[in-house]
Amino acid sequence: MPPTIPDKQWAQVIEKKGGPPVYKQIPVPKPGPDEVLVNIKYTGVCHTDLHAMNGDWPLPLKMPLVGGHEGAGVVVAKGELAKGIEVGDHAGIKWLNGSCLSCEFCKTADEPLCAEQQLSGYTVDGTFQQYAIGKAAHVSKLPEEVPLDAVAPILCAGITVYKGLKESGARPGQTVAIVGAGGGLGSLAQQYAKAMGLRVLAIDGGDEKRAMCEKLGAETFIDFTKTKDIVADVKAATPGGLGAHAVLLLAVSEKPFQQACDYVRSRGSIVAIGMPANAFVKAPVFETVVKMINIKGSYVGNRQDGVEAVDFFARGLIHAPFKVAPLEDLPKIFELMQQGKIAGRYVLEIPQ
Ligand code: NAD
Ligand code: ZN
Repeated sequence: MPPTIPDKQWAQVIEKKGGPPVYKQIPVPKPGPDEVLVNIKYTGVCHTDLHAMNGDWPLPLKMPLVGGHEGAGVVVAKGELAKGIEVGDHAGIKWLNGSCLSCEFCKTADEPLCAEQQLSGYTVDGTFQQYAIGKAAHVSKLPEEVPLDAVAPILCAGITVYKGLKESGARPGQTVAIVGAGGGLGSLAQQYAKAMGLRVLAIDGGDEKRAMCEKLGAETFIDFTKTKDIVADVKAATPGGLGAHAVLLLAVSEKPFQQACDYVRSRGSIVAIGMPANAFVKAPVFETVVKMINIKGSYVGNRQDGVEAVDFFARGLIHAPFKVAPLEDLPKIFELMQQGKIAGRYVLEIPQ
């Protein structure tokens, strides 16, 4: 018996730039030929969803918009061209909802760089609703035994930090400074880094985040709200006082993007992942040259990065704290996020 799909559903809808999201009933969308319809059970709340609501980025936004891009659920319908995934499969909808699959970037497994990309919860409706659409080629097939609440944050935060760590080139035994370690991406970055054999130096603010980072395996925690000299503190905490081998910038403020080159070690890499509004990565040319610093950006991950990130999780290597709240509570969660008060991730439970 195919699942019964209602005509109407509950959703959080952003009706104007700046929000707030409005909890209301909207029609259930129908999947196109190459798409699937996923009955979302849980969805993480990423800081990107807040940037989207606030219109922080120079990228045109769909409006009205259903946000969300860390959705985990069950496939309930599929188009006739949707391959590799069946009704009844567990599936995840990610930030990259779809791409052309035929441009040079898609052909070379750089789908996040596709000019025709569709973004869940940004250019197409996302996962803050009961039924969401994803391109079959891009949805993540999830193993049945993986819990849908805990895996939801892997679908953006996990994939992104796993990819960022790979892009950093840091090798087992080396030290990675994770800036914004107490947030959603940061908490997962610490776990992936540990699983990849890296040593973690966590930077964030407040005692709750300190306690969480120490539990997640950070060897050192530096509180950016209290330290008098963050550069000296990072250097003191790294082998030989030389600085971090890699810096993962996940913070939602600009300052660390200007500071990192002072505490990365020579030959080290700085990976920009966080996207604070109107911010610049700035580095002195002299130090960049004579320290041979590698500064780069990293943007989500390709489909295989998604498979690998989920696989780390499925093998029990990734444990990051998350709190569960009902879909209705999204506005409250955005407020806490804006204030920097969330240690780890919030996952929304979608009413069934
Ligand atoms: P979050 O709000 O959960 O975490 C951000 C953390 O940064 C908070 O814990 C905050 O205290 C910390 N922070 C703020 N200023 C800091 C400073 N000066 N030093 C150290 N820490 C500081 O957000 P999140 O969901 O983890 O997302 C983080 C950023 O990553 C957002 O800008 C988001 O849009 C971006 N993002 C990028 C990608 C990508 O592919 N590049 C993917 C997902 C999210
Ligand atoms: Zn995200």
